[in-house]
Amino acid sequence: MTSYTAPLRDMRFVLHELFDVTGKLSPLPGFEEVGAEVMDAVLEECAKLCQEVLHPLNQSGDQEGCVFKDGNVTVPKGFKDAYQQYAAGGWCGLTASPEYGGQGLPESLDCLVAEMVGSANLSLGLYPGLTQGTIITLTALGTDEQKNSYLPKLISGEWQGTMCLTEAHAGSDLGLLRTKAAPNKDGSFNISGTKIFISSGEHDLTENIIHLVLARLEDAPEGSRGISMFLVPKVLLKEDGSLGARNNVTAGSIEHKMGMSASVTCVMNFDNAKGWLVGQPHKGLAGMFVMMNKERLFVGGQGISIAELSYQNATAYAKERLQGRAADGVACPDKAADPIIVHPDIRNRLMFSRSIIEAERALSVWTNMQADISHKHPDKSVRQKADDMVGLMTPIVKAASTDFGSEIANSCLQVFGGHGYIREYGMEQMVRDVRITQIYEGTNAIQAMDLVGRKLGLDNGRLYKGWLDEVEETLIRVSGRNDMSEFSGPLRDAVERLKECTQWLFEDAKNDPNSRNAAACDYLRLFSLTVFAWIWTLMAEAAFAKANSSEAFYDTKIHVGLYFMRRVLPQTTGLDSIIRAGSEPMMALTEVAF
Ligand SMILES: Cc1cc2nc3c(=O)[nH]c(=O)nc-3n(C[C@H](O)[C@H](O)[C@H](O)COP(=O)(O)OP(=O)(O)OC[C@H]3O[C@@H](n4cnc5c(N)ncnc54)[C@H](O)[C@@H]3O)c2cc1C
Repeated sequence: MTSYTAPLRDMRFVLHELFDVTGKLSPLPGFEEVGAEVMDAVLEECAKLCQEVLHPLNQSGDQEGCVFKDGNVTVPKGFKDAYQQYAAGGWCGLTASPEYGGQGLPESLDCLVAEMVGSANLSLGLYPGLTQGTIITLTALGTDEQKNSYLPKLISGEWQGTMCLTEAHAGSDLGLLRTKAAPNKDGSFNISGTKIFISSGEHDLTENIIHLVLARLEDAPEGSRGISMFLVPKVLLKEDGSLGARNNVTAGSIEHKMGMSASVTCVMNFDNAKGWLVGQPHKGLAGMFVMMNKERLFVGGQGISIAELSYQNATAYAKERLQGRAADGVACPDKAADPIIVHPDIRNRLMFSRSIIEAERALSVWTNMQADISHKHPDKSVRQKADDMVGLMTPIVKAASTDFGSEIANSCLQVFGGHGYIREYGMEQMVRDVRITQIYEGTNAIQAMDLVGRKLGLDNGRLYKGWLDEVEETLIRVSGRNDMSEFSGPLRDAVERLKECTQWLFEDAKNDPNSRNAAACDYLRLFSLTVFAWIWTLMAEAAFAKANSSEAFYDTKIHVGLYFMRRVLPQTTGLDSIIRAGSEPMMALTEVAF
């Protein structure tokens, strides 16, 4: 049996002491009432729900899974009731507009809520996680009629949302998709085709499911410029908005998966299903990116969720399990052996996990705070700068947090030795559950290519240079301070390494068409670790500001930060060399030699 305690102290540190989120957001229209007490109360309420209701269903949900029969899906025992409690608490519409019944709270708070929900129960959390993306997309692109008809019920959680992109022959390359949309005289469309791997495509949690579907109009150009987005409800609405006839969209089967078995994944058949265009014709992929950008940050959060859960359970086990003796002197002479937490290898796994998780959490809040600023700030140039930072950091939050999420879950399983491999202990579920986060919402290789091939060079490097300016500001502020030297020095070196490596990559790409893609994943990791070094410098600065506090939290924070700077950041040196090896080592063999 696993346990979960929401890391509220660290979350409050990030929100209030590190970034002063309320100080930055409360002057913005719509956030006037969002003070620190409101944020803390929301986090505490969510923590209770996660610890008492959602987490106790995590292992039973995994063992039971979803059941498919006659086109219907039944979620595991207890899920429906837990979901209803979740919806009744207003959690589905936390960031949605109050105009449609939402709470209008910031994304920077919501990402912490989502982290807790994901730690408690990753599968259950995905259902409302997709609804939120649907809400955001309809709010941005829907007609007034669509907003009035669908948003209130999605926000209340009575209905749930999905994203239907993938087809058997069209995954990363959505330009290949074939689902068709034919216009009707009444302004609706008939949607026909088969989508695969659709999360929450069919289930009994809610009375209606609202699918956002990518399809091609009859006159559509080929490729990704010929895709439109449609709203296709499972149950059609009557004139008065109440539920009417069943639409022709059905689940053909469900997938039997490696993990997240309580989150249903469906083959969805659209057989002249009635749908309505959302946004402009042929602009559906750009429209879907409204949802994907939200979901990419959400999925990054899922990586943090499982890393945190793994870390907590591995730490508890390491303090209890007695094996061997400490090399530097017996720790527990009254016991047959010392707890394994005395051993450097176990320490190293826990310290590595913690130093990454805390940096990721802070980066996630910072990026989501930029999203809040980009939505609400009255000054256009401030909005643009914040939006740039969201664009640059989205592939990093998504890919780095999920790659490390998987790595940390695996490493924490190792802390349990053979017991980690046994179901009852719950660690193998974490390894299985988190694995998908590296794949869906665009595989991490696709994220890395987005960073290297698109975001870095965008508008003459505006996004990248904007972030470098932020780092330079930090360095100017802290350099010369003795207490900060173990942070500012390595950060300065890492940023110089990143700049030189980026320059090298741009030069190499002039001569080698494979250069960027060959470097992409290693470059994303190099970039991520450099970003974490910046985040750790900020966290150390905030912790040193409380040097006189009697709370051990700040001293611990500095130690974890020093671990990162001394034992994790040096990976960037190796990554730099690997990137500079270019594409030749991997491209040299002919295909037949494999
Ligand atoms: C459990 C689960 C839930 C899902 N939920 C949803 C959902 O709700 N809605 C939805 O629409 N989809 C969903 N998906 C689909 C998911 O988003 C895709 O599986 C994913 O985008 C990858 O597509 P693919 O599986 O077709 O792999 P492919 O695109 O075939 O990729 C195979 C491999 O090739 C690599 N690759 C592909 N193209 C390139 C390239 N140009 N350069 C370098 N490498 C490349 C990939 O990184 C990957 O490693 C889900 C999938 C799963 C398994």
